[in-house]
Amino acid sequence: MSAFDPDAVHAKYLAERDKRLIPGRADIRDLDRDEHFARFRDDPFAPFVDRDPITDTVDVVVAGGGIAGVLAAAHLRKAGVERIRIVDKAGGIGGTWYWNRYPGVMCDVESYIYLPMLEELGYVPKHRYASGEEIRLHLEAIAERYDLLSDALFQTGVMTATWDEEAGRWRIRTDRGDELTCHYYVLATGILNLLKLPAIPGMERFAGRSFHTARWDYAYTGGGPNEPLTNLGDKVVGLIGTGATGIQCLAPLAEAAKHVYVFQRTPSAVGVRGNRPTKPEFGERLQPGWQKARMDNFQALMLGKQVDEDLTDDGWTHHYAAVHHPPRWKGMTAEEYTQGAEELDFGIMEDHRRRVDDVVEDPAAAEILKPHYRYLCKRPCFHDEYLQAYNNPNVTLVDCPSGMDEVTGLGPVVGGHQYEVDCLIYGTGFEPELTPLHRRVGQDIVGRGGITLAQKWEEGAATLFGMLSRGFPNMFVMPAPAQQGVVTVNYTQLAVLGAEFVGGAVGILEERGVQAFDVSAEAEQAWVQKILDSFVDGSHVMAACTPSRINNEGNPAGVNPRNGNYGRGFGDFFGYRELLEQWLASGDCEGLELDVRSAAP
Ligand code: NDP
Repeated sequence: MSAFDPDAVHAKYLAERDKRLIPGRADIRDLDRDEHFARFRDDPFAPFVDRDPITDTVDVVVAGGGIAGVLAAAHLRKAGVERIRIVDKAGGIGGTWYWNRYPGVMCDVESYIYLPMLEELGYVPKHRYASGEEIRLHLEAIAERYDLLSDALFQTGVMTATWDEEAGRWRIRTDRGDELTCHYYVLATGILNLLKLPAIPGMERFAGRSFHTARWDYAYTGGGPNEPLTNLGDKVVGLIGTGATGIQCLAPLAEAAKHVYVFQRTPSAVGVRGNRPTKPEFGERLQPGWQKARMDNFQALMLGKQVDEDLTDDGWTHHYAAVHHPPRWKGMTAEEYTQGAEELDFGIMEDHRRRVDDVVEDPAAAEILKPHYRYLCKRPCFHDEYLQAYNNPNVTLVDCPSGMDEVTGLGPVVGGHQYEVDCLIYGTGFEPELTPLHRRVGQDIVGRGGITLAQKWEEGAATLFGMLSRGFPNMFVMPAPAQQGVVTVNYTQLAVLGAEFVGGAVGILEERGVQAFDVSAEAEQAWVQKILDSFVDGSHVMAACTPSRINNEGNPAGVNPRNGNYGRGFGDFFGYRELLEQWLASGDCEGLELDVRSAAP
């Protein structure tokens, strides 16, 4: 295809979708009770450290030590909060960057806007796109700066958080026998935090080594996130999954292994990444306030606004922003708009398909690697070594649009052909954002009257600002998509905003001597109504997509509007940020019921 022929494009895209829309494609193993694969969750990065259970009282418990948790805790510290305990199942700080240490791990959102608190820490990232290790170490440095490490409880999972009405406190019990009492409870357990293992027939019979990319087994492969995989020279490796993770770890695997089979169900659209070292003069020229300004510049582009200069100037600002904001003009008909949007999208996807042809030498492999769907059907990817890796003689692409037949003791079977591998690596991602919060947090949260969050949110989320929920006093949930917050490409900016809100709100509440706050019924109803009113049903567009977590695995109409997002988006003009900032600035705690009685000891 080259010229835009809408009928031909529709037909091709639908045919590609239909190959993949097969029953059971999204079936997963339930790792909570899986005798074969529960071990996939084990932490390979830190030896288990025995310790005695702790019973104590602190000001705040933060569940989760990733970006959101570290930032919330740092802002609480700035607000003068003394005793803060971060609790995390991981052996250290980092969240997603703790767990995801696969070779080649990087963040494809520009480092200067993704790594938070660069100005506070006086740090300038080494490259335009940072490695996972650099991000993890930076988050650790923030935790150190704000003295969050000494009280943190790692290798510890919260089992229950129960609101004690009498005491006006949360009682937190952990899987290490700890009993923590706290005034405020912050849930910062992350979005894509539950690793996902597809249910492939026979997979438990595989006799070789297998693991998920979010728990990379360096004891087996040798090497490290930025080091060659020294033990793979005589090993045949099977890589399942070609999403943002799979595409990042292929090149290091190809460099090290005897042979790599890549099992691809749906190709990603892989744009140019253009990574490069940070020039010394970049850091020298920065003025105070630069990071917020840069984040805002990126955000403005994502919101379709005019800016003097595109500071990030990458695939996100060129392609992702463009397809979200196709040209519009006065008097344009809906049909013209739709066609214009489609044509723009087609042009961008053609560029991606051409890139495959330009880079991949084997025309048969190139054909399989071409993405035939609209740009937003799958999360876009950016990389400069992924497509190139297919030119190595030791890399074979295996096309399996409708999945594998099975996995035997020897390895995957596709189209009746047995692929024998020593090692099978699952780059199969995470349970989606739409996974209910109570499942993602992995704990029972029991609010007023013994009502659990799972019970309260049975029909969908119910919040004020996506962060506070009636019946769960003194609790903050860090903002996230699909949870009555907003979607941002740069998640860090949302986490910063959420953290400023938590720190700011606690500062106001403490100053006013509030023992307990709860959301008023009216304020919560009004927010839920805003979410419902601004719900845009995009299911007619998304239904034509190849299935993925973005279109609810081919069932976009199954999305509950209550688990949607705030329609005005992140920015100004009654945007999410403006609402939160105004709420803090007014200091009047609008929408909250405040209890200023003194707390029981
Ligand atoms: P994804 O969910 O994006 O990809 C999973 C891959 O596994 C897909 O290729 C999927 O195929 C494939 N798969 C799933 N089940 C099967 C099966 N039964 N048989 C064969 N293939 C299967 O997970 P990732 O870990 O790649 O990425 C998850 C998210 O993490 C990203 O969307 C992104 O938000 C984040 N991320 C961000 C990075 C960054 O640089 N900022 C880097 C890495 C991850 P199919 O597409 O057909 O479903």
